[in-house]
Amino acid sequence: MIAIGTIRSPYGEKFAIPRQPGLAPEALGYCDLTGEFGVAETVRGLNQFSHIWLIFQFHQTVAKGWQPLVRPPRLGGNKKVGVFASRSTFRPNGIGMSLVELVDVESLNIDGQPTNRLTLRGLDLVDGTPVLDIKPYLPYAEAITDAKAGYADEKPSGQLAVIWSQAALQGLTNKPSAQLPTLDIKVLIEQVLSQDPRPAYQAGKDSDRIYGVKLASMDVKFHFPAPTVVEVLSLVALC
Ligand code: SAM
Repeated sequence: MIAIGTIRSPYGEKFAIPRQPGLAPEALGYCDLTGEFGVAETVRGLNQFSHIWLIFQFHQTVAKGWQPLVRPPRLGGNKKVGVFASRSTFRPNGIGMSLVELVDVESLNIDGQPTNRLTLRGLDLVDGTPVLDIKPYLPYAEAITDAKAGYADEKPSGQLAVIWSQAALQGLTNKPSAQLPTLDIKVLIEQVLSQDPRPAYQAGKDSDRIYGVKLASMDVKFHFPAPTVVEVLSLVALC
């Protein structure tokens, strides 16, 4: 199998990425198709679709292999289900699939290479994720409104209130990045942190601990001063 393209995403690391696409709609990024997949013919007609499936490799975990049983975060991290009853990244072949909004399709020349650049909204993938295939989303076949989803029946709503220190507000910039579409970093941080990125076993036991995450080329520091509150402490631009 070969990669047909690469994800450019505001998520500089796995930690804090929402567990499914669409939970942080401000997570805008690109899928760049290059080489033989960068010619305009491969995406002819794609702009007629509002959403696409990305089939990709969990490249940061694939080498760690898989287990028949996994602990989904939705079950608090202490109950096990079969790997095929989960969306765990640790699975045979390390293949993932995400349904994302397709904002734009452009055929460009980037650094002398023909490149099809897809602008995407609501990504749940780390920067640099290799994309194996793309397919248009077909609502008539794939939108099943009365489907059952077991332990994942409910959409996880943003559960935490996000507050900002003065220092963090001063660190805010919306300097456009050449690597990413224009996005509102404050909105993105609030959407991401309100989902509570901590592992289930740490939630509520760590009011003193300071966490850090790389988001949209910023080093974001935050902590949890109360069980349902996350405070952004500082933002520093990464070089
Ligand atoms: N929507 C996809 C699916 O169902 O196959 C992905 C779901 S998976 C639970 C989402 C998590 O994968 C994110 O929270 C992030 O921690 C992790 N992740 C994202 N990109 C990754 C990558 N390239 N390699 C390994 N893990 C990744």
